[in-house]
Amino acid sequence: MGWHRRWVEPFPIYVREAKGVHLLDVDGHRYVDISLGDSGALYGHSPEATVKAMINQVRKGITFGLPTEDAIWVGEELARRLGLPYWQVYMTASDANKFAIRIARAVTGRDMVLVYHGCYHGSIDETSVTFRDGKAVPDSISVVWRLPDPSRRTQIIEFNDVGALEKALSPQDIACVVCEPAMTNVHVGIIYPESGYHDALREITRRYGTLLILDETHTIAAGPGGLIREMGLDPDILTLGKPLAGGMPVGAAGFSQKVVNKLMETEDWREIGGTLSANALALAALRATLEHVMTESAYEYMISLAKRAAEGSSKIIKDAGLPWCVTRLGCRIEYGFQPAPPKNGADFDEVHEVNTELGKLFHIYMVTHGVLMTPFHNVVLTSPATTTEDVDFYNGVFGQFVKELVQ
Ligand code: PMP
Repeated sequence: MGWHRRWVEPFPIYVREAKGVHLLDVDGHRYVDISLGDSGALYGHSPEATVKAMINQVRKGITFGLPTEDAIWVGEELARRLGLPYWQVYMTASDANKFAIRIARAVTGRDMVLVYHGCYHGSIDETSVTFRDGKAVPDSISVVWRLPDPSRRTQIIEFNDVGALEKALSPQDIACVVCEPAMTNVHVGIIYPESGYHDALREITRRYGTLLILDETHTIAAGPGGLIREMGLDPDILTLGKPLAGGMPVGAAGFSQKVVNKLMETEDWREIGGTLSANALALAALRATLEHVMTESAYEYMISLAKRAAEGSSKIIKDAGLPWCVTRLGCRIEYGFQPAPPKNGADFDEVHEVNTELGKLFHIYMVTHGVLMTPFHNVVLTSPATTTEDVDFYNGVFGQFVKELVQ
């Protein structure tokens, strides 16, 4: 994959093995892994309960094109945790968003999708757009590949701007808003919703007949019920992916009763999803992870370590007199090499360049000193397998980096 090479150019690190948050590469280097597969392994590499369930299921069949009883347990558990009554399980979060948009179009009979400046929702044409002069334009990959002009099917606005939202939705031609409850993909810190923004988003989407798709793929870092539960949000569709099955590829989407009622009016909904979606192995991994790994107590522990990491690095930054900010969402921390976290995509654009340059140095420094970081994100993740020693090791290397930089 192209992005495997972007960790440390020009060659990727080839992995020999990993367990918990400790990773060994083929050259014998050991790392404390704070990237955790860009959160695909948020609960540590190969959590015991997930591994056990997967080995057991592999022996009994991997994929049938039919459900196993795990599907019933998983559906009930996702409904209990996240509030939405109906669920589909796919292979990735990109899948979940792609199918969610498809369903939103089917239900509303509309074509257009609304996203936010600075968003990322996976490898989907509709959401792979950039904001320029108030319009959606293709992102760089789409430009190179000459993909169709996204402004015909995607509109884009700034996050936290209620006026722009009202203006975009009032013509009543938008099928869905796709939105992270807090934006985690701007690479310079987390963009939090301003007070009242989510209430306005829910009210305005309802008023104009637009479905609200919340994407919890990254914000599941906030807690075992994601930010939707922390903030009491009420989307029409919720999408998830990455760490949900302990590293086994899984995406999922939850649907409200209203969406499902509308879908049931036709037979067409049966065609949504892929052959391997909700296969027996994925469901076994998902069940074991939900039941034994992604627990309340695991999150309490992960979050306490993330606080330790954030407090430690904030102190290093303050003591060095650097104008940087640290944002935290549950067990996810992002640094910005600017004084305050961004409020929207325009803030991100302003500081993007300095963050990219310094970010490259930061990543190279960390990786050559035994800390594995996600490329282009200045992100630290803590998992149930992380220890205080791992956090202190990380902060030690971060402190060294800051000291050398200031000198
Ligand atoms: N949604 C969000 C918010 C994401 O950050 C990502 C990937 N970083 C995705 C969806 C897509 O995930 P995947 O690449 O696993 O399909």
